Amino acid sequence: MLIPAAHYLTYAEAVQLYNELLALEINALVKTCGPPSFPFGDGIWYQLLIEETDAAAARETVEQFEAGRAAVAVLRCPRCGSPDTGPLARRSLWQRLYYAGTTLYGCADCGRNFAA
Ligand SMILES: [Zn+2]
Repeated sequence: MLIPAAHYLTYAEAVQLYNELLALEINALVKTCGPPSFPFGDGIWYQLLIEETDAAAARETVEQFEAGRAAVAVLRCPRCGSPDTGPLARRSLWQRLYYAGTTLYGCADCGRNFAA
């Protein structure tokens, strides 16, 4: 029986995890999931399905992979702790000079800008 090993992956993440599992001689099946993307009709995310008998062997690799995703994905606001942050598209001249070599982020909840 096939069980999901990981879901809500981008295509690049799905390929990476697929290859990592293949190195362990675990054959994963990549399927789309999530809401359909326009105009193709498939899901915009990918999930990996593995045989239930491979689950124990795959668990460590999948857990490490998930931990790596979480570390990159969530950047919390230093003021209010909200994870709802993103890179600022526009920077003023003084921000470009002051924060040279870093990426400037903005918090969607409290409006705080911070470098990371
Ligand atoms: Zn904030």
